[in-house]
Amino acid sequence: MLPIAISLVILASILGAPIASSQSAAPARQSVLDVTSLDPSVDPCTDFFTYSCGGWIKKNPIPADKTSWGFSSKLVDDNRVLLREILEEAAAPAPEKDLVKQKIGDYYSACMGEQAIETAGTVPLKAVSERIGRMHSKRDIAGLAASMPNRGALFDFQSDQDFKNSTLVIAEVDQDGLGLPDRDYYVKSDPKSVELRQAYVAHVQKMFELLGASPGVAATQAQAVMRIETALANGSLTAVERRDPKLLYHKMTLKQLEALSPSFRWKQYFSASGQPGLRTLNVTAPEFFKAMDAALRKEDLQSWKAYLQWHLVHANAPYLSSAFVNADFEFFGKTLSGAQELEPRWKRCVDYADHDLGEALGQAYVQRAFPPQAKQRAQKMVKEIEQAMERDIDGLSWMSSETKQRALEKLHAVANKIGYPDKWRDYSTLTIARDDELGNVLRAREFEFYRQLAKIGKPVDRGEWSMSPPTVNAYYNPQLNDINFPAGILQPPFFDPDADDAPNYGDMGGTIGHELTHGFDDEGRQFDPQGNLRDWWTAQDGKEFEQRASCISDQYSQYVVVDDIKINGQLTMGENVADLGGLLLAYMAWQDQTREKKLSAIDGFTPEQRFFIGYGQAWCNQTRDETKRMYAAIDPHSPDKYRANGAVSNMPEFQRAFQCKTGSAMVRENSCRVW
Ligand SMILES: [Zn+2]
Repeated sequence: MLPIAISLVILASILGAPIASSQSAAPARQSVLDVTSLDPSVDPCTDFFTYSCGGWIKKNPIPADKTSWGFSSKLVDDNRVLLREILEEAAAPAPEKDLVKQKIGDYYSACMGEQAIETAGTVPLKAVSERIGRMHSKRDIAGLAASMPNRGALFDFQSDQDFKNSTLVIAEVDQDGLGLPDRDYYVKSDPKSVELRQAYVAHVQKMFELLGASPGVAATQAQAVMRIETALANGSLTAVERRDPKLLYHKMTLKQLEALSPSFRWKQYFSASGQPGLRTLNVTAPEFFKAMDAALRKEDLQSWKAYLQWHLVHANAPYLSSAFVNADFEFFGKTLSGAQELEPRWKRCVDYADHDLGEALGQAYVQRAFPPQAKQRAQKMVKEIEQAMERDIDGLSWMSSETKQRALEKLHAVANKIGYPDKWRDYSTLTIARDDELGNVLRAREFEFYRQLAKIGKPVDRGEWSMSPPTVNAYYNPQLNDINFPAGILQPPFFDPDADDAPNYGDMGGTIGHELTHGFDDEGRQFDPQGNLRDWWTAQDGKEFEQRASCISDQYSQYVVVDDIKINGQLTMGENVADLGGLLLAYMAWQDQTREKKLSAIDGFTPEQRFFIGYGQAWCNQTRDETKRMYAAIDPHSPDKYRANGAVSNMPEFQRAFQCKTGSAMVRENSCRVW
């Protein structure tokens, strides 16, 4: 995973997947509906989340090294036990090893070799650090930025599917270059934000001191970093703006980009990145590059040196000696996210291996943890939920037949990816050494950077995955129009091929429906069946959609996250629309599937109740206040409690299942429905 537990999996999907627990005993298999996790003292019609999860939450406080704890983070942790076994086996000496085992085994060994890492100190960064120190002019920044081992200092350079030509991969530059999780952290003036910025500057100073600067010099350098990052933040798009793909598409010639930021030597940068012939690209955020240019003009060479040194050490701190690891944790783990302790080294190493060699580790993982019957049952469920969506679209009262026809075309074009990729990534050109932890990380980063750039000008590979097979998460990609369910999430307590249908449909069915609905949320609906940014809606239907989506936004904007912070209804709109749509589709599919069957109560719960408890327990999770605060700013997902309560309180099917009375909290007077 990324060195800092902030942005890990917030990108796409369903679970904010944080990091998890402690002992390494074989994990007990948890049922997809766990009655002991309920809190029967709570009325399900008042607070369905606490009813579904309150028993478990009371018995399972957040471990000291976690920022949140629940069914998903526990599964992540349990998964790590298995991944560790795989990695330790691969690391053990053996007469003959295949290339995949060799790589993951050596990677893990190097990462666990604490003594060598302590001895190395910052030596592995020395060459680049000295190059930064030797810069004579700000005109050298471009060449240096291109060869820095942390991509994303200043901005991102990558490839992307052309938003308007889904067959082609083009080059792209995107905003980045901040140390804090989002541009809002630099611009907000409330006391908490001011306090966090002060703590951040103190942390930056501390890191300069660890690199050998005197406190006075380090303080000056930290101030320079803060000024430059604030300037970049002011030019950056907000998290809400970035949900609108139209705002991220500005195809330009190299000349136009040079006109936008003439102080940066782009030709030199692209040449040094192995792309000397680049003439056109997408510039996601032109204002950012203007702001970068202004900062390049305004700040002096010394300040820029400080900025680059900071990003060099910041990006690599988790892989350096303990002084750096601990300082990095003190700010990003503790102050920013609320964790009390650093996770044990082996857990971090498992995560790094998954991040850097995910499809090598994943091969061994699926052999051990993903039986063919789990894949078959998931495939069947996906098909049924797609059929439910077909019926759902057909029956919509607010949509014209013209738009319905196109929605169905899009639905039929969705690619279903289940478990793991058909073709594994080839890591043969990535050198992994058994005794060089940071070197492995840097080479893996290079490998990924050039793997992405090698796609420029080529056709799109529609088989690619952007999550590794062990990942406990799922996503929809609007550009590929595909739904993706890694093997990691297709297991108890989210999915159990051996359990009864009702909770399986409520839980995993809800997740499948959620990802599918993303193709038709405020963002996804702007892409056509092939993944082109193209409006296929009639104007009237577009208005009807927006009206219904704003009902959801208004609903969630009322919910309190922590203290005085409420959910940002615009930021979370797509996820909330997908939660409600997904649950409805899962319910329709389950009803259709079991129409002929005579269902009976189990453990005192009707089949309908079991369906909804299965859904409610998908969100059994508690989170530290610091992390809640952070997620409120950057995470497009609502807090777990409202993912449960927000969706069911819009559903008459739920209210009937639990016989909720009008006026109960889980019976919304003007309930919302989009899909
Ligand atoms: Zn989602």
